[in-house]
Amino acid sequence: MQNLQMVDLKRQYHKIKTEIDTAVLNVIESTAFINGPDVQNFGKELAAYLEVKHVIPCANGTDALQIALMALGLQPGDEVITTSYTYIATVEVVALLRLKPVFVDVDADTFTMNLDGLKKAITPKTKAIIPVHLYGQCVDMEPLLAIAKEHNIPIVEDNAQAIGGTYTFSDGTKKKTGSMGIIGCTSFFPSKNLGAYGDGGAIFTNDDALAETIKMVANHGQKAKYYHEIVGCNSRLDSMQAAILRIKLRHLDEYCTARRAAADFYDSAFKNNHKIVTPYRAPYSYHVFHQYTLQVKGVNRDELQTKLAERKIPSMIYYPVPCHKQNMLKEYGSANLDLPVTNMLQDCVISLPIHTELTQEELSYITTNFLELIG
Ligand SMILES: *Cc1c(COP(=O)(O)O)cnc(C)c1O
Repeated sequence: MQNLQMVDLKRQYHKIKTEIDTAVLNVIESTAFINGPDVQNFGKELAAYLEVKHVIPCANGTDALQIALMALGLQPGDEVITTSYTYIATVEVVALLRLKPVFVDVDADTFTMNLDGLKKAITPKTKAIIPVHLYGQCVDMEPLLAIAKEHNIPIVEDNAQAIGGTYTFSDGTKKKTGSMGIIGCTSFFPSKNLGAYGDGGAIFTNDDALAETIKMVANHGQKAKYYHEIVGCNSRLDSMQAAILRIKLRHLDEYCTARRAAADFYDSAFKNNHKIVTPYRAPYSYHVFHQYTLQVKGVNRDELQTKLAERKIPSMIYYPVPCHKQNMLKEYGSANLDLPVTNMLQDCVISLPIHTELTQEELSYITTNFLELIG
């Protein structure tokens, strides 16, 4: 088996090469490199796709989260509740703004925020909640929105891993991930479900006033050019990335379907092995499988990874050290927090290749070898 990768961006590119190349060359020819029409149009098209009023494109997903928290006017020392079982960016921006990260555990089946833990973590100082739609699975938003409403706390969705996903409410209403909190954030890092050919990110909201503040924060705190009202930052999506993303957005649903088909293949191959727990699909969540993450039990995971690598099968641990144990957050003294599920998952998860171009032959090679190695 040749060249298996966690994410295969090349084959995906080759299917849309003509369109992409033309769009990129058009941007170069136009020289509208910054804030060109493609940026405006991409923002509008993404807003229509997500069914939100405003999409503010920015430089990357980390900036999106930072700008969201800045736009909410959070003050140093304010508490922000999130999960430790996430990519570091979710928590890093909280620390960067001198806010206090408060960690709650995740549920072992969904890998997302445990809502009982959330309720217990709320204090009068809680000024935001960041649920993370990890691996492409949507957090159980209906009860989460109810808790947040009861305490009047804004929700900022970290949708970096779940764009294209949906949540189904108990009355049957469906909403896109990232469109339910007061603000949603996403990343267009190349390997994300909607990936650019470089960095990119976006912030979504239905709130007109907040949208204005977000635009200001992302643009040096200015409303009128050279008149700076607040301290902001410089965070832009460039026109070339926007041109590429406009094309890829039209394929997003089909990309999600392809990821789900690969996950279906894995699920059925692994379902009867008692050492493997396949990813749970919550009934309310249309899972878009940014990652396909197994839990392996009674298995030497390091050895398994080495043997998989010998057979040219890549695998990854997302994430080997949960945020609360990172040295970066030493000053918060969070390393010894009682987060049993997070700590347990850290030792038993393993992610397999998942992307839009996996063939049946590749999937069957991966599953056959994986099952053989696991015994
Ligand atoms: C990728 C990611 C981010 C950050 O996005 P960048 O574009 O890399 O800055 C934030 N949160 C989560 C959960 C992510 O997976």
